[in-house]
Amino acid sequence: MTPPKFAKFREVQEELGRSGAAIFRDAAGVESLVIRFPYAIDYIHSYAEDSPFFLGLAEGKLLGSKCTDRKCGFRFATPRSHCMVCGKPTAWFELPKKGRLHSWTTCHFGSEAFLKETPYNLALVEFDGADSVLLVRLKDCVESEIYVGMPVVARFSPTPKYLVTDLWFVPDRA
Ligand SMILES: [Zn+2]
Repeated sequence: MTPPKFAKFREVQEELGRSGAAIFRDAAGVESLVIRFPYAIDYIHSYAEDSPFFLGLAEGKLLGSKCTDRKCGFRFATPRSHCMVCGKPTAWFELPKKGRLHSWTTCHFGSEAFLKETPYNLALVEFDGADSVLLVRLKDCVESEIYVGMPVVARFSPTPKYLVTDLWFVPDRA
């Protein structure tokens, strides 16, 4: 059976959901067969030198990395095995759980892990004692109440999965 032909991509998507195949015709009349082919994989990979960061999240600790060079001493609010300023190795240090909003954006599209909570807010958080910022989700607030400089506090998943989703921030209303 020949798959139905469609000019509009939304119709193609609907047909893919129903029958699993469609022929898409673009504005120039060029046809291409599109099929639905579900697959799943187990993606086994190592966090290598970033591992302490994720293990820390599971214990409610937020770890940054500081340059071991005494002259440089740059303090990153993210895992870094080596200093991005001078190239020397770094050492772990614990960041404060409270910080301030450096900047933020509302995401209306997201990767698979975040689809259920789209639209969601992504924030850059500043900390006392750190020279760089952390990119993290900002939850439990509406867009209209967010502002640059807003005090925020870390939240850790009570059921850690060793993923970036184990951590998010919320407004510090205390
Ligand atoms: Zn350095």
